[in-house]
Amino acid sequence: MDLFGEMKALGHEQLLLSHDPSCGYFGIIAIHDTTLGPALGGTRFWQYQTTDEAITDALRLARGMTYKAAVAGINLGGGKAVIIGDNHRVDREALFRAHGRFVETLGGRYITAEDIGTSPADMEYIKLETDHVAGLLGLSGDPSPVTAHGVYVGMKAAARVRWGSDSLTGKTVAVQGAGKVASYLCRYLHEEGVNLIVTDIDAEKVARVVAETGARTVDPEAIYDQQAHVYAPCALGATINDATLPRLKVEIIAGGANNQLAEDRHGDLLEERGILYAPDYVINGGGVINVYGELHRWPAERAQKKAGEIYDTLLRIFEIAQLERIPTYRAADRLAEQRIAAVAGLDRMWMGGR
Ligand code: NAD
Repeated sequence: MDLFGEMKALGHEQLLLSHDPSCGYFGIIAIHDTTLGPALGGTRFWQYQTTDEAITDALRLARGMTYKAAVAGINLGGGKAVIIGDNHRVDREALFRAHGRFVETLGGRYITAEDIGTSPADMEYIKLETDHVAGLLGLSGDPSPVTAHGVYVGMKAAARVRWGSDSLTGKTVAVQGAGKVASYLCRYLHEEGVNLIVTDIDAEKVARVVAETGARTVDPEAIYDQQAHVYAPCALGATINDATLPRLKVEIIAGGANNQLAEDRHGDLLEERGILYAPDYVINGGGVINVYGELHRWPAERAQKKAGEIYDTLLRIFEIAQLERIPTYRAADRLAEQRIAAVAGLDRMWMGGR
């Protein structure tokens, strides 16, 4: 793999490869861009097949965090860490303390948090070695309520653009997943008088949402065929792909899942089909806003209020898309890049010996 070539292509600042033989730690920390602030991104613990695959994932995810933080209007850059290995491993202290030590070597340029394969308990081990960690026990807690709030207001912004009013009353929303984000989202939608269709591979979770909201349920694979106004992917990534796209009978896609488009071209295809797509990293920014709130010791309401700004951010993105005749996912990238460039531009002015 041509490491510098990859970093150049994606615009990364730094890539740290670390090894601690005492506990079999192999870790990668990718810092994409710190124009807006320290790079924040979770630590993913995953059994990658090859080192190249792990590096590619870290680089790609770090870049995604730069864009997510930029459009969320918070002062963070983008980074991500991966630890290579079996995430069911039980002896975790030395591994995560080793990781914390390598995070500490970056002097605050990278702040870590939970991600796939890691838990708040792992963050506590990291905290023994560095202060540059969020998602600690007893602090900001589960980000899902804030994420769901952002998805809810984001869906309303899409409704306003699509139907001229942000009311969702009487509309039908097909929700994929009945997990944490989905269940909080369903509560908001139910309160507004939305007809819900819900699915999950976990029948117990579906039953809980049905009991709370009276949602209709369908088999997981049938969610793409529902006659609904909105499809809300809140489970897996890449559910908008060649196989599902022709089946969708909705006017809006607005959900909490990460990486909803299998490939960029699926965003172009949505545009061609007249389906309004609320870009995933914009509408699900509540999670990163929640972590930012923890770092700055915000009261919970402040993070919730900040996530409410996703409404206006999405309106702006839909406007850029319309004015510049580009798909919404590209308009989101443009807004993020504009904010980074604007802040970088401030550096031209000398402010003393900072
Ligand atoms: P979760 O694990 O609580 O929920 C995910 C649900 O998806 C689970 O109930 C799982 O059984 C279900 N699922 C898996 N495969 C499925 C399938 N084929 N069909 C239907 N359901 C299926 O996770 P979550 O925290 O609610 O996150 C949901 C999504 O939102 C993820 O993509 C996550 O990356 C993203 N996200 C979450 C947050 C957050 O604050 N939790 C923030 C940003 C993005």
